[in-house]
Amino acid sequence: MSWQKRAARHEYFGNSEAMSGIDSLPPLRQVIETHGIAAKKALGQNFLLDLNLTAKIARQAGDLAGCDVLEIGPGPGGLTRGLLAEGARRVLVIEKDPRCLPALEEIAAAYPGRLQIIVGDALEVDPLAHLTRPIRVAANLPYNVGTELLIRWLTPPQWPPYWESLTLMFQREVAERIVAEPGSKAYGRLALLAQWRCDARIVLQLPPEAFTPPPKVSSSVVHLTALPAPRYPADPRVLERVIAMAFNQRRKMMRAACKGLVPDLEDRLVAAGIKPTERAETVGLAQFCALARSVKSGL
Ligand code: SAM
Repeated sequence: MSWQKRAARHEYFGNSEAMSGIDSLPPLRQVIETHGIAAKKALGQNFLLDLNLTAKIARQAGDLAGCDVLEIGPGPGGLTRGLLAEGARRVLVIEKDPRCLPALEEIAAAYPGRLQIIVGDALEVDPLAHLTRPIRVAANLPYNVGTELLIRWLTPPQWPPYWESLTLMFQREVAERIVAEPGSKAYGRLALLAQWRCDARIVLQLPPEAFTPPPKVSSSVVHLTALPAPRYPADPRVLERVIAMAFNQRRKMMRAACKGLVPDLEDRLVAAGIKPTERAETVGLAQFCALARSVKSGL
């Protein structure tokens, strides 16, 4: 073997060894075997077993030093280990599957005082009592729970919310709906809710093979940063109602889709910069907010 090849080989293996050793805990495949955590479809379990990858996702969550991190659905703890290794002050995990508890307890023992585990349904547990600001959220969740939680995080009773950022894995099609621009097929309620009060961008794309077992579709990590105030003023409840009406029948013109919202709808659409004949998918965020303000003043 030539010295160049040997040097290249050494560099490759040298790097990979250094990068995979994010902590002194066993590799995730071994953890899964030891604790018998075979993936269950009903819980949407597609695990990330590459610790280099989970550390990379954790880095997308921003500077974790001095932050509490809420992680939903840690499973065997790949992302949890990434978050802790990347310097999170504390991590609170909420996991529905009690089979994961022994694996998570091992991580807690390796990072004394920095990992709190709650076994329960993230849709029913209130994490706030266990967290201290600043708070970031990170998760690789099943599709339906992820979308439901995202909508809850985006529509809190007060803004700014308790969290500074959300770093969330979604199937690619959902990620595209979050960052979509007007005029695209993916544009709708999720894009408007997300972009009204957050900066939202796709920061990583992952092929199905990154997961065990591989899901049918590709995935993306979306990073959302909470803005201190909404981009345009509007009453959240009125805006949500207007957006819901407009997109419930997205093939219809705005004047038909929003019929019954207010008696003088067409005048208000025009005043908000919206053509009564255009469809919701071409109406921008600024116009939806203008319409919501106008509707509120007319109620
Ligand atoms: N974070 C791990 C990883 O990246 O390897 C696991 C990801 S797996 C896609 C989703 C995890 O969420 C599973 O561990 C599953 O048990 C958990 N989960 C599913 N529904 C949940 C819920 N309602 N509340 C909390 N955890 C849930």
